Amino acid sequence: MTATADSSRLIAVRPDVREFTASAKQMYIGGEFVDALSGRTFETVDPATGEVITTVPHARAEDVDRAVAAARSAFEAGAWRLMTPAQRQRVLWQIGEGILARADQFAQLESIDNGKSVGVARAVDVAWAAEIFFYYAGWATKIEGRTIPVSVPWAPGGQFHAFTLREPVGVCAQIVPWNLPLVMAAFKVAPALTCGNTVILKPAEQTPLTALLLAEVIDGLGLPAGVFNVVTGFGDAGAALAAHGDVDKVAFTGSTEVGKKIVAASQGNLKKVSLELGGKSPQVVFADADLDAAIPGTASGFLFNHGQACTAGTRLLVEDKIFEEFTQGVAEVAASQRIGSGMDTTTDIGPLISGEQLERVTGYIDAGLADGARALSGGKRHGTTGFYVEPTLLVDVNNSFSVYREEIFGPVAVAVPFSAADGVKAAANDTPYGLAASVWTRDISKAHRVASEIQAGTVWINCHNAFDTALPFGGYKQSGWGKELGEGAIDMYTQSKSVNIAL
Ligand code: NAP
Ligand code: MG
Repeated sequence: MTATADSSRLIAVRPDVREFTASAKQMYIGGEFVDALSGRTFETVDPATGEVITTVPHARAEDVDRAVAAARSAFEAGAWRLMTPAQRQRVLWQIGEGILARADQFAQLESIDNGKSVGVARAVDVAWAAEIFFYYAGWATKIEGRTIPVSVPWAPGGQFHAFTLREPVGVCAQIVPWNLPLVMAAFKVAPALTCGNTVILKPAEQTPLTALLLAEVIDGLGLPAGVFNVVTGFGDAGAALAAHGDVDKVAFTGSTEVGKKIVAASQGNLKKVSLELGGKSPQVVFADADLDAAIPGTASGFLFNHGQACTAGTRLLVEDKIFEEFTQGVAEVAASQRIGSGMDTTTDIGPLISGEQLERVTGYIDAGLADGARALSGGKRHGTTGFYVEPTLLVDVNNSFSVYREEIFGPVAVAVPFSAADGVKAAANDTPYGLAASVWTRDISKAHRVASEIQAGTVWINCHNAFDTALPFGGYKQSGWGKELGEGAIDMYTQSKSVNIAL
């Protein structure tokens, strides 16, 4: 029986959060907070209650044009890109400090707008977002080219001095999803700014608020107008950015379906594209794993953020010898999760982001059960109000079921046995995705071997979702193009110019 968090334990909304949401919000273009040119707005809703939090501008193509023009003129004017690296470093650091100075306000806003636990929002989303700005602050002074010894074949005896410069790409459009709104913004904004680019950030329609609070933080630091812009709108605003002839790069995180649309839209001016897309990540559990760690570890591997994570480990591939014991253990962990409002500090699992996602996720569960799966835990919506789904572990599943193949983006995993004789490589790679995976074993050789066999951009051993800002992150196969985090993002937000001087 899934426990329910107690609504009498809801924490009080902070005065600075009330003040932030008390009036209609504006978006941030060219260093000013502005309405949409049409004056239109849309509502953003608390998924725990369905209540309207506030309204934000409904940006259309004309607002996108305005933001792109602001970002273009800021880039060309050069005040940002030609600022000394040490100065840019200081600004990036101050953004991180600015986030931490308002950490509790950010955490409550994220919890109210997205539904996640306020404690998780504070400890993970807000802390990590600040950390990402601190990390990329350090990069500003370390973006280096190389000197390359050359021997120009048709200039025998000629002497040359050749080197590479790393220059910013230009105007960067950054389209982010609703699952980790502030963190996804930081993933993109921090490296783009440290490299000297200018940015237009488009948050998801469901979660625009922390991007606008980030704009307040950045506005207070006196960056040149137009270096950082936020446009709030729907998919058509994202599409206008992806198609825009004056945008030099588009970075996108979201569904593989929309990722493919971004690629198509970007063709007009062949802008640079990076994509961080969906996943159906395997968690491979061998019989020799430390089950006391692997049971809770794999459970949180698919339950973190209510399963609304691109890296969610939603395919448990479990060695047959321990299948019963292991899946029983994971089902018990799943069933013990406390479901409730993110503003209750005892909540483990909050609401999904929207009624649409609730229908999508319960639709997948129903399809799985109709296909013949059995729910060891959960299996349905939780309660009748709010967008809550019981943490669900499905067994008796095969690889033709949609619950096995498709990204569900809710607290739902399937468990399938494998035998040592057959190995697990084929099952692990039986997906069009390749974002992440984890391997649980005490055998170090086996861990390395399986890690090398899995086609995924990240493989964790005896852990899942153990991110670090210094570790490049991005997908193989249809999970994306390019690497975010680490030096990978510096590569994506710079272009290399070769200079060759005849001496
Ligand atoms: P989505 O449509 O891919 O949304 C991601 C972002 O893209 C949002 O900012 C969205 O704006 C924008 N967008 C939508 N259509 C666009 C277009 N044609 N051109 C440019 N930008 C566009 O994801 P979703 O609809 O929110 O969620 C649907 C499914 O996607 C989920 O169930 C999940 O499976 C997957 N998803 C994956 C991730 C991930 O991190 N891998 C994240 C989120 C969702 P609007 O919000 O205004 O539509
Ligand atoms: Mg959408």
